[in-house]
Amino acid sequence: LTQLFRPLDMLGMVYRTIRQGLIDMAEMFRLLDTAVEVPDAPGAPALVIRQPSIVFDNVVFGYDPDRTILHGLSFEVPAGEAFAVVGPSGAGKSTLARLLFRFYDPQSGRILIDGQDIAQVTQASLRAAIGIVPQDSVLFNDTIGYNIGYGRDGAGAEEIDAAARGAALTGLIERLPKGLATEVGERGLKLSGGEKQRVAIARTLVKNPPILILDEATSALDTRTEQDILATLHRVAEHRTSLSIAHRLSTIADANRILVLNEGRLAESGTHTQLLRREGLYAEMWMRQAAEAEAMTEAAE
Ligand code: ATP
Repeated sequence: LTQLFRPLDMLGMVYRTIRQGLIDMAEMFRLLDTAVEVPDAPGAPALVIRQPSIVFDNVVFGYDPDRTILHGLSFEVPAGEAFAVVGPSGAGKSTLARLLFRFYDPQSGRILIDGQDIAQVTQASLRAAIGIVPQDSVLFNDTIGYNIGYGRDGAGAEEIDAAARGAALTGLIERLPKGLATEVGERGLKLSGGEKQRVAIARTLVKNPPILILDEATSALDTRTEQDILATLHRVAEHRTSLSIAHRLSTIADANRILVLNEGRLAESGTHTQLLRREGLYAEMWMRQAAEAEAMTEAAE
């Protein structure tokens, strides 16, 4: 019987998840594949945020009990700072974001936001506090305005307009005869990767969360678009606490602190300059990426 109801449960969760305006469509499909529902603690209060700090306190986690992915990870992101997480593929970077969003609970250790254990507060309040700008945004087959307003139930036209401006979408919208009422997706306008990401940024602005997770695109954008989007993201991250998951190190060199993960452990951390001076894993990754970038430039010439 449990087997029979599991898919229904999942659909219920996905529906609630969408209602809370917390995820991207891509994330929804991923959830359908992997969903494990984490229940609210009985009588759990809402998360109350005054100073949105994030603490990982000795977090041990594995998707399967017999394969540990994070081995007692501890770090703190002070309120209002921009931190970046880097490390080799499979190091556990995206896993951090999933735990923070409480798609899973750690096997041991705690995750605190503003001093409150996220396992002890309601998921609705937790997820309302965190905005994710994903690598790859899938939009609804609806208007640009709808896709932006979906960041938060009841968002008004003015807010949507302001968010579109904040995400530097005005140029595009002004060129369209129907503006924000233009249909996107299969039924209408095809947006480029960069424009889609701007819609995701605008959606996050409407949500206005104190905490931001930026999941950097690996390769979808050209350099110029990428620089523009990064500038927008930096503006959006101001006055918030942010955690950027980065694949290319050049994009996070000015983070307040860079956490270098390796095989689920914090290998080193510091500013870009401090880490280069250490001549450790970060310096090695930096040199390798710089050499690759140079080889690509030479090949293009
Ligand atoms: P990348 O830079 O390639 O995106 P990452 O550092 O973000 O990598 P994670 O996605 O956090 O890495 O994955 C860490 C480890 O957990 C990997 O070994 C991965 O295979 C494993 N893993 C990720 N998701 C799941 C899952 N749903 N079930 C089981 N194992 C998983």
